[in-house]
Amino acid sequence: MITQEQILLALREVEHPAKDRDILSLGIVKGVDITDNKVTVTLAFQGRDPLADYLIAACKSAVKRTAPQCETEVRTIVKERKPTKKQTGLDLGMEEIEHIGKIIAVSSGKGGVGKSTVAVNLAIALSRLGYRVGLADADVYGPSVPKMTGTEGTIPDSIEAQRINADGEPESIDLILPIEKYGVKWMSIGYFAQPGQALIWRGPMACNALKQLILQVRWGELDFLLIDLPPGTGDIHISLVHDIPLSGAIIVTTPQDVALSDVEKGVNMFRNENIRKPVYGLVENMAWFTPAELPENRYYIFGKDGGKRMAEQYGIDLLGQIPIVQSIREGGDAGTPAALNDGPDGKAFTDLAEKLLDKCGD
Ligand code: ADP
Repeated sequence: MITQEQILLALREVEHPAKDRDILSLGIVKGVDITDNKVTVTLAFQGRDPLADYLIAACKSAVKRTAPQCETEVRTIVKERKPTKKQTGLDLGMEEIEHIGKIIAVSSGKGGVGKSTVAVNLAIALSRLGYRVGLADADVYGPSVPKMTGTEGTIPDSIEAQRINADGEPESIDLILPIEKYGVKWMSIGYFAQPGQALIWRGPMACNALKQLILQVRWGELDFLLIDLPPGTGDIHISLVHDIPLSGAIIVTTPQDVALSDVEKGVNMFRNENIRKPVYGLVENMAWFTPAELPENRYYIFGKDGGKRMAEQYGIDLLGQIPIVQSIREGGDAGTPAALNDGPDGKAFTDLAEKLLDKCGD
């Protein structure tokens, strides 16, 4: 006499091809009845499962193999699918950044040193060298990427994607599509704020918004994703550099002593024992002033080689020295960054990109 256990054992062999698990552990088998010479299996599906017919046939064969003498019937119940839960920003997974070669944070100890200028121009320089690049402007307090790239006022599209959550249940999530311009995929919190409207996010809210800007974006395949961090080394930074699988960081400074003392905090943050991310090097911005009409002249208005000395002191590389050039500021204001041109200002960023590539092993 065939037993229920034997039939259940046989049904355990039937795998749901789309879910890579057997139908018993997925809870699809709702009942097994054995009367005289007949085995009745009841399967319950959530909504219309396109593989239902395949599974019914697979169940019949499994039962037939175990109980060839019995008649077999498979009944089905279709349960209404529960409305799919929307994934919230709080439990975002790493799916959208899985196809990114290197994630590099661009940080600075304080504001106004040209961190965003360096990040935007570096992204364009890397793209001009043939790499696939994205930039997430995570400077929630002063997002400057929309203006610097001439994409202000553009509203990113979104798409809905399905994911399977930790309980094996489908979940839908809205993903934001980055804005593409100058060969780079840009994303900024600034695309979601009214121009001129101050962003007053603090603490956990800012933190969550930052993670969404990185993890809820359909980046696609990229060689590099640069993250333009907010200035400083507060809790937000620590949480972000801890939670996002960064490959490393670069630190932007000016040659002044006051800026340099902030660099120390930045280097220490990445070297912290809980974080331990490589600092690829320092970028000394505004290293000297060169007037357009005297391109050979260098005026060290913020002091000479401060960044170079700092880099030596911390045992990190000086990746580049970028001069103060009017065209760099104008390019930023006009939405046409200097790295797009082949003049000396553009070349400063190409050199920086090449040095970074050497340093991070590409
Ligand atoms: P941060 O991101 O560190 O706050 P920004 O990149 O917004 O700094 O730069 C602050 C201002 O300085 C901007 O107006 C920018 O155009 C200008 N700036 C930055 N770097 C340079 C440079 N190398 N030459 C000329 N102007 C620069």
